[in-house]
Amino acid sequence: MSNNMSGEASDEPYAAGPTAGLEGRDLEDRPEARTILESRDLSVFYGEEQALQSIDMEIPEKRVTAMIGPSGCGKSTYLRCINRMNDLIDVARVEGEMLFNGKDVYDDDVDPVALRRRIGMVFQQPNPFPKSIYDNVAYGLRLQDNTENLDEKVENALKKAALWDEVKDRLDESGLDLSGGQQQRLCIARAIAVDPEVVLMDEPASALDPVATSQIEDLIAEMAEEYTVVIVTHNMQQAARISDKTAVFLTGGELVEFDDTDKVFENPESDRVEDYITGKFG
Ligand code: ADP
Repeated sequence: MSNNMSGEASDEPYAAGPTAGLEGRDLEDRPEARTILESRDLSVFYGEEQALQSIDMEIPEKRVTAMIGPSGCGKSTYLRCINRMNDLIDVARVEGEMLFNGKDVYDDDVDPVALRRRIGMVFQQPNPFPKSIYDNVAYGLRLQDNTENLDEKVENALKKAALWDEVKDRLDESGLDLSGGQQQRLCIARAIAVDPEVVLMDEPASALDPVATSQIEDLIAEMAEEYTVVIVTHNMQQAARISDKTAVFLTGGELVEFDDTDKVFENPESDRVEDYITGKFG
């Protein structure tokens, strides 16, 4: 199922309707998901400052997991541990384990570049390359020498990113000429073109207008049919709308609650989480 480059993808309902995903996620009729990512006693330090405090968390496969909490509480740091983007920060030091399919991504024999092919990332600011729409999506496939049926692969990725209909007649135009929301969907197409297992998203809609935000939210809900999505958002309504699981981080890099999204928003265990989601602080 994770390899959906066979052409079947064109029949998938990736062109989500305007309200898809907004009615809340329905977990009832789906089998229990297995754990794809698991952190054990994961701590991160920037120099002397500890940004994450011994985090244990199991992230289910093919679900949307949202990470919420006030600014500076370690959400992006956690996200960056998953595909070792923290390696790029000199002062960052990681302790504990981050297991991906049972294997610690920090083991010596893990190649971070290969890891990032399996765990893609979409950032807050859309960042298409200054290349054509086609070349943006084909980029990772060409790096991998995975260019057989390239046109079809590019088309499928753009369809999955709900962008195909808007760009199919202008694939040679620059990705930078697209609107902000289209650029972000292009970045999503670029991330999923190489058929990753996990897509990490760091506030992917916070630079977008409400219509573009709603399109991205619809898309994320659709993506969980095929990928594991882990999203950082400062927007609690967004987390409530699109995620299956929610992790609440609070000040000091503490994971205070992690549970089904409905449970976290309707009946949190922790008073601190209740105060946070009802707006009493944060
Ligand atoms: P959030 O995503 O919840 O806003 P971050 O993970 O960005 O939180 O930051 C957590 C803490 O780590 C903050 O105190 C922040 O200042 C610190 N931090 C984040 N990135 C760096 C960095 N590159 N160098 C030093 N400190 C950092």
